[in-house]
Amino acid sequence: MALYDIRVIGDPVLKKRARAVEEVDSALVRLARGMVETMYGASGIGLAAPQVGVGKRLFVWDVGAGPRIIVNPEIVESDGEWTFEEGCLSIPGLAWDVVRPKQVHVVGRDLDGNEMSIEADELEARLFQHELDHLDGTLLIEHLDDDTRKAALRALRQSGVGPPLAPPAPSTDGGLRLP
Ligand code: ZN
Repeated sequence: MALYDIRVIGDPVLKKRARAVEEVDSALVRLARGMVETMYGASGIGLAAPQVGVGKRLFVWDVGAGPRIIVNPEIVESDGEWTFEEGCLSIPGLAWDVVRPKQVHVVGRDLDGNEMSIEADELEARLFQHELDHLDGTLLIEHLDDDTRKAALRALRQSGVGPPLAPPAPSTDGGLRLP
């Protein structure tokens, strides 16, 4: 089973809303299995299709009960509030405390077309919200406040990851411009 390259922040595929899966064919099954292997290879607990460059609405996860796959997932209900340190395979090496709902109810389909309905709490609920974000083109850093996000982008650039530097804003006040 081939492993996929995991796309990292700055890759445009991570900012696009993924399309609904119309049909589960053998290519999609291969994709899902490859995603599971890729997730394990990266020691992750969840991986969404855009993270391997595929703009389709599915993700895989394993919070200790074996690999699971869901197609066209939706959060139909969420409740509570929980702060937890959250990282992302597409934002290597960084993690932040992020507040999100504590419980979610997710529905979708498995690879055989059967309905899935999962009431999740804490870690699994967190994971579902994180992966759903990926399917909507939202990255974890968008949940951070401005200062924390800027610091994160600086740290990523210093480690050679991340979006290209924006050109410096033109100086309008005659102040010092740094390169
Ligand atoms: Zn992620």
